[in-house]
Amino acid sequence: MADKFDVIVIGAGPGGYVAAIRAAQLGLKTACVEKWVNKEGKTVHGGTCLNVGCIPSKALLESSHKFVEARDHFAEVGIEVGDISTNVSKMLEFKQSVIAKNTGGISMLFKANGVTALEGSGKLLAGKKVEVTGHDGASETYEADNVIIASGSVPVNIPPAPLTDDIIVDSTGALEFTEAPKRLGVIGAGVIGLELGSVWSRLGSEVTVLEALDSFLPMVDAQVAKEAQKLLGKQGLDIKLGAKVTGSNISNGEVEVSYTDSEGEKTQTFDKLIVAVGRKPYTEKLLADDAGIALGERGFITVDDQCRTNVDGVYAIGDVVRGPMLAHKASEEGVMVADIIAGHSKAQMNYDAIPSVIYTAPEVAFVGKTEQQLKEEGVEYKTGSFPFSANGRALANNAPEGIAKVIADANTDRILGVHILSQHAGELIAQAVTAMEFGASAEDIGLICFAHPTTSEAIHEAALAVDGHAIHMANRKKR
Ligand code: FAD
Ligand code: AMP
Repeated sequence: MADKFDVIVIGAGPGGYVAAIRAAQLGLKTACVEKWVNKEGKTVHGGTCLNVGCIPSKALLESSHKFVEARDHFAEVGIEVGDISTNVSKMLEFKQSVIAKNTGGISMLFKANGVTALEGSGKLLAGKKVEVTGHDGASETYEADNVIIASGSVPVNIPPAPLTDDIIVDSTGALEFTEAPKRLGVIGAGVIGLELGSVWSRLGSEVTVLEALDSFLPMVDAQVAKEAQKLLGKQGLDIKLGAKVTGSNISNGEVEVSYTDSEGEKTQTFDKLIVAVGRKPYTEKLLADDAGIALGERGFITVDDQCRTNVDGVYAIGDVVRGPMLAHKASEEGVMVADIIAGHSKAQMNYDAIPSVIYTAPEVAFVGKTEQQLKEEGVEYKTGSFPFSANGRALANNAPEGIAKVIADANTDRILGVHILSQHAGELIAQAVTAMEFGASAEDIGLICFAHPTTSEAIHEAALAVDGHAIHMANRKKR
């Protein structure tokens, strides 16, 4: 038997690496097992998020957005750039360099905090032992007082569209296209489908998104979702709702996709097809038969509010457990669990204040409840909205699209949800999360002094609008 640790974390994604760093900071002897190897055969930390998720997708979204800004909008503000073009290989190179900086940073943080990085595949055995099988096939077993499982998730595949080497790909393949495909199909109008569809549409692809559901972004506040759908449509994304993909057939280097919609069976041919129909928890070869960990619905590891599994001293966090599949949710669970292990038994996280961001242009960002959820729950509420077209900074930025919306409890005025569609909405939402964590009312936000000119002022105005008092909008409350 090799070393014994206070904590062994399996998986170094944003859940696992954060848990490991926090545990080490709290004085616990900590190891983190990671099996991800990059194309050079080197173990890399950071998981899905840093290698094939949040970070690389944002690099391509930002680069492609800058291109569209320069091509279509610079002239509007007096910058003549003439004909411009893209260099996709350079964009991919930049994206890779961003990945390398981020993943290298985690390895450096492990060293700085004294986290032992174990390279290879971790398997939880009975009695809180972890067997680590290295890339050379040799294995070693370590003991721990506590184990944190943070093995993450992988893309869902669907039988009608099995992946191929280069035509039908998942989100990982879609970050690697060496040129914009002429005709690009995307199955699934979820967050990932819309972000990747936007990247390639901006770089020149004709993009069709096939979505089985009849409604667009059902988890987003309906008013915001409707506006976002309109704007994405204007940008050239052909989003077909109620279109369920039933089959695909590859011939002559193209793929014919069959789908059904309200009018019956249809087909459409693409040069590339992205399958973006969601992600599923990843537990392959992770749990020995006698490890005793209970799995629940759809393969998620069953945990309580503090991420405890049914086995004493074994925790699970991030995408492999219930809740939104988001990097920051995984990280906060990592912090909570490390704190619990270090003796802060009451550590908890607020699952009601986890922000979500869709990095389209404009961005969609929200926290808390939507109007449709509150209606279903029978909660009485009031709303205030403010259009960015009436915000001075948004106009100066030549980015007047979108709205900010605050939803407050009709009786207590406590903020129940904030929904933003705008340039940099993902940054703006942080102040709404802060307000909600402090139990703020809409009036509280209305009484705060916001810097001018900022797009944040739209949130101020939306909060004032809850009671009909927005300054820069003709909405005076009749008394
Ligand atoms: P992961 O990041 O999946 O990490 C799990 C790690 O565990 C991996 O490194 C894996 O190799 C390792 N592992 C698994 N099993 C073992 C084992 N047995 N032994 C050793 N190691 C193991 N989220 C956001 O919040 N914002 C975004 O903008 C965003 N964009 C995304 C874009 C795309 C294209 C994708 C695919 C995802 C995106 N996500 C985003 C989701 C985000 O990536 C995940 O929610 C997040 O990575 C989950 O973190 P995790 O630590 O639970 O798991
Ligand atoms: P998300 O889970 O947010 O990544 O979104 C995935 C989307 O893919 C969901 O909106 C699903 O409705 C959609 N989806 C799943 N299967 C199919 C299918 N066969 N055809 C079209 N859309 C699908």
